Amino acid sequence: MSKRRKALIIDDSNTSIIILENMLKAMDIHTVSAKDGNSGIEMAIHEKPDLILLDILMPGIDGFETCKRLKLNEETCKIPIIFISAKDESLDKVKGLELGAIDYISKPFDVGELRARIGVVLHLIDLHERNLALANTDELTRLYNRRHFFQVFEREVLRAKINATPLSLMLFDIDHFKNVNDTYGHLAGDMILKQMGKVLNENRYPLDVVARYGGEEFIVLLPQTSRDKAIKAAEKMRSTIDQHLWDIGDQEISISVSIGLVALETMDTTDLSEIVQRADDSLYIAKDNGRNQVVVWDNSKTINQPQEELIDDQYSELQDKVSLLSQQLKKQAMNTTSAFIEALGVKNPYFVEHAQRSTEIALDIADEMNVSSELKDTLSRAALLHDIGKLGIPDRVLTNPQDLEEKDIALLREHSIAGVKILGPVGIFSQELQIIRQHHERFDGNGYPDSLKGKEIVIGARILSVANEFDYLTYSKDGLPLDKDGAIAKILDGSGTDFDPEVVDALVRVTEKQLAECAS
Ligand code: GH3
Ligand code: MG
Ligand code: MG
Repeated sequence: MSKRRKALIIDDSNTSIIILENMLKAMDIHTVSAKDGNSGIEMAIHEKPDLILLDILMPGIDGFETCKRLKLNEETCKIPIIFISAKDESLDKVKGLELGAIDYISKPFDVGELRARIGVVLHLIDLHERNLALANTDELTRLYNRRHFFQVFEREVLRAKINATPLSLMLFDIDHFKNVNDTYGHLAGDMILKQMGKVLNENRYPLDVVARYGGEEFIVLLPQTSRDKAIKAAEKMRSTIDQHLWDIGDQEISISVSIGLVALETMDTTDLSEIVQRADDSLYIAKDNGRNQVVVWDNSKTINQPQEELIDDQYSELQDKVSLLSQQLKKQAMNTTSAFIEALGVKNPYFVEHAQRSTEIALDIADEMNVSSELKDTLSRAALLHDIGKLGIPDRVLTNPQDLEEKDIALLREHSIAGVKILGPVGIFSQELQIIRQHHERFDGNGYPDSLKGKEIVIGARILSVANEFDYLTYSKDGLPLDKDGAIAKILDGSGTDFDPEVVDALVRVTEKQLAECAS
C-alpha cells in the first residue's frame, strides 16, 4: 500500500488555495500552503512534501524564480512541481517545464483534469520510489546491496571527517559456508542467508548500516562509533550468530562468522577502498586464526600475512575437507581413547570425575574468553585426556600424593609427557597433545616439563591449568577441599606467577555469574 502523500500549495490567492485543498483532500492527500515564493521555499524544506503546486504570478519572487530556487536547493530539488497559472502562453509553459517542472496546468483549471494529472504524477512518484528501493536492495536478504552501501559509506566517511567523529566498519563472512551448501543443499544455504538479513537488522544499532557485500559476506557501517564500542558490537554480533539456531526447513543448525573490524578514530584515511581493505585483511586473519572470531585492524597489522600461494581456492577447499575429516576422525579416536579413561577410572574413580569437572570448568572459562569453537573442541578433548599419563605411574605414588619422596615427585611429574607418549601414535591430536604437555607449565616460567613462560604456553594449556587447579582445590586438596571463594582466593594469589591473569579474571567472572544465577 502506498503511503499518504503530502502536497504543498504555493499561491497568493485564498480562493485557489481552498479549491486545491478540497480537491486534494478528496484524493486523501494531506496539504500545507504558503502565500508567496520565499515562505513556500521555507515550507518545502521543513515539510518535505511529495509534490508542489506552484502559482506563477505572486507578489515578491514569482513562481518561475521560486521554481529555480527550489531546483537549486539540494533538499528540495527532487520534489516534483506542477505549475498552476493564469499565464496561458505556450512560451510560459515551455519556460516552466524547462525550469524542471513536471507539468503545467492553466487557470481556471478543470478539477477533473487536475485530479487526473496529479494522479499520474503520484503514480510516477510511487514507481520511482519502488524502483529506487529495488535498485538499492538485495533480493534474497532484503538488506541494502553493495552499490547502495557505498553511496551511504561515502557520505558517512565525509561526515565523520568534517565533524571529527569516529567511524567503524565490520566486514564478515560465514565460516565454511561451502560445507553448509554441500551438506544441506543450496536451498538451505539460501534460507540461512535470508535469515541472516533478519538477524542483522534486528541486532544492529539504530544508526548502523547493514548490507550484503557479496555471496556470504556482509558489511556493517557503524557511524559515530569508537574502537571500544565497535569491538563490543562486533563481538556481540559474532556471538549472537554463533548462538542462533538457523532454520533450514527440517532441522536447525549452527553456523559462525569471522569478522574483520576497522575502527577509524582519527579518520587517517577517507579512501573507501583502503578502509574496506583494512577490514578485509583483518577478516582474512580471523579466518586464518581459526574462524568464529573478531580481528581488529590495528592488531592484525603486526601478524605475518600468509603467503600468496596459500590463498587459492583449491587450497582452501582441501583445507576444509581435511578439517571436516579430522573432526570425524577425532570423534572416532575419542571413542577409542575412552577405554584409556575407563582404565584410569579403575585405578581411581576420582581421576575420571576430575577430568570431567576440569573439562566443564575449562569450557566455561573458554566461553567467557570468547575463544573460537575450534579451540573449544580441542580444549575439551585435551581436558578429558590430560591425566591419561597417570596410567603409567605406580599406584603407591598416585594414592599418596601428599608425602612423596623427591624421586616419586619426579615420577608424578612425568605424567604430562607420558600422556603425550601414550596419545602420540594416534597422530591427529597434535594440538590436544600440546595442551596436555603444557598443562603444568607456569606463567612465570617455573613450571614443567619445558619451563615455558607467559604466552609461550598455548592458551588451551593456560586455561586448563587454571581449571585443573580450581577443581583440585574445591574437591580434593589434601583431603580438605576449599569452598569456591577460598579456591578463587588461592588462584588469585597465583595470578601472574602460576597462572595467566586473563584466564584467572575469566574464572572469577564465571564463578560470579554462577553465583548470581544461583541467587536469582
Ligand atoms: P570460509 O570459512 O573460508 O569463508 O569458507 P567458505 O566455505 O564459506 O568460503 P568460500 O568463499 O570458499 O565459499 C563461499 C560459498 O558461499 C561458496 C558459495 O557456494 C556460497 N554462496 C555464495 N553465495 C551464495 C548464495 O547466494 N546462496 C548459497 N546457498 N550459497 C552461496
Ligand atoms: Mg567468502
Ligand atoms: Mg565463508
